[in-house]
Amino acid sequence: MSRVVVIGSGIAGLIAAVEASRHHSVTLITKSNLAESNTHYAQGGIAAVSSDDDTVAEHIADTLVAGAGLCWPEAVDVLCSEGPGRINDLVALGVDFDRQGEQFARGLEAAHSHARVLHAGGDATGAGISNALVAAVRATNTEIHEHTFLVDIAIEKHATEKDAAGRSQVAGVHVFDTTGTRFIAADIVILASGGAGQLFRHTTNPAVTTGDGVAAALRAGAVLADVEFYQFHPTALAVPGSFLISEAVRGEGAVLINAAGERFMKALHPMAELAPRDIVARGIQSQMMAQGGQPVLLDATALGASFLSERFPSISAACRSYGLNWATTPIPVTPAAHYWMGGVATDDWGRTSIPGLYAVGEVASTGAHGANRLASNSLLESIVFAHRAVSNLGQPWPEDAPAARWGAQGPLLELDLTETVGRPSTQVVDRVELQTMMWDNVGLARTRTTLESTLDQIHAWRPADPAHRLFPDWEDANLLLLAQALTESALARHESRGGHYRLDYPETNPALARPLTIARKV
Ligand SMILES: Cc1cc2nc3c(=O)[nH]c(=O)nc-3n(C[C@H](O)[C@H](O)[C@H](O)COP(=O)(O)OP(=O)(O)OC[C@H]3O[C@@H](n4cnc5c(N)ncnc54)[C@H](O)[C@@H]3O)c2cc1C
Repeated sequence: MSRVVVIGSGIAGLIAAVEASRHHSVTLITKSNLAESNTHYAQGGIAAVSSDDDTVAEHIADTLVAGAGLCWPEAVDVLCSEGPGRINDLVALGVDFDRQGEQFARGLEAAHSHARVLHAGGDATGAGISNALVAAVRATNTEIHEHTFLVDIAIEKHATEKDAAGRSQVAGVHVFDTTGTRFIAADIVILASGGAGQLFRHTTNPAVTTGDGVAAALRAGAVLADVEFYQFHPTALAVPGSFLISEAVRGEGAVLINAAGERFMKALHPMAELAPRDIVARGIQSQMMAQGGQPVLLDATALGASFLSERFPSISAACRSYGLNWATTPIPVTPAAHYWMGGVATDDWGRTSIPGLYAVGEVASTGAHGANRLASNSLLESIVFAHRAVSNLGQPWPEDAPAARWGAQGPLLELDLTETVGRPSTQVVDRVELQTMMWDNVGLARTRTTLESTLDQIHAWRPADPAHRLFPDWEDANLLLLAQALTESALARHESRGGHYRLDYPETNPALARPLTIARKV
């Protein structure tokens, strides 16, 4: 029996805790309440083959196309072939997917060759999954610590039976709560702390999404991969705290119009509003720049009030809560940071480059999404790899985990952390200024000049003094570090591919179809 600490209570952390608690002593740490996570807000659903007219081979092919030449094929194979089994696990844990007769109801989403997206409560899939898994974890003997913040991952260096090479390995975690900072010893840490949408001024992600786990892993010495690839969703409601307006709304016939009332997407792509996500997002952004930063409008009025409230109950409720009636009036929308393809590099069992440290869910870079994620594959990735990580507990840690994915050359970029940690200089970072700069310079379209000026500003900031930090200060320190990692990686990738678009390198370069890795300089 191992002492396992799980960080995060989205789908990945909850599955990991529920499954690990069957054989191990588990402590679950989460920085807000158990139900607060990206998972809770997921709308469209979870992709998996569940019908005779669909095949795993086709799900694999669709995922590889979306990944723009950068997927790790073994990870994609695992994702799509093990997905249906993990859906059965979710059902056994109480997730009530919508049905049509005996079968799962299946939605069709962009770039899927078949209708294979399972959903719950219409567009409330994430809440359905989160509520069932929160109840499931509470029914186990997992020790749960809510409102407790992962600060750092502790490592120690000694040879063990399982790692004769004597590499540094996990010893526990430093956490922060109302009583201050304390240490929790562990044999295994499973990081499931999600992405970092809060790096950008516009995001569909909730406030907890500040990349703390990725930053802690980087400080501990873990290798990160693909961090330059961020997916920007074209349509979030342009209100404080943004709210995702699902692609399915455009799929049903809603159109985008500019301040002059013109449908601008028709001139930009033959598929107009249903062009690939990155093209629609960039189309909206250039309209916004041309109209002084004003959001564009999504016109769903032709769909009718009763259809909108039945098909999109959550979005209808969100519009109402902001005083908007989308059945009668077009609503303001903007692109927004949505999903991080990059993260802590793992192998196909969730193992990172630090023995004892697993990373699962959005915090990880398994290679399953490559340079761009296929819609509804992220909830699937979370359950497939959380299950795999738990089933791997107790196994020896191979010396090359997870390096097989990027070959023998080791990390390509090294970050000098002394530049952002403990630097005596200048000004304490301002979150809104950082988010605005990242949105403007490292968002939908990047150039060498904007990336370099961003790095200059990042180097002119420092985090607050660790001795006086509260939750938001720890988060700001992490956001500053990740802004540096993302910007340096974006600067180093001299091409456009998937979620990374360089105005100065607009083409995809086949010679660069490999992951870019980054680690702490030692
Ligand atoms: C609006 C929206 C709609 C989406 N729709 C879909 C969809 O339809 N289909 C799909 O597949 N994907 C969708 N996604 C993406 C998907 O929801 C996420 O990728 C997925 O839920 C990630 O799960 P996770 O468990 O890895 O992380 P999360 O669900 O983000 O959970 C992370 C957890 O870690 C905790 N945490 C973070 N930092 C710390 C810290 N320092 N200390 C302690 N705890 C910490 C958080 O509080 C949270 O509980 C959507 C995302 C959003 C935002």
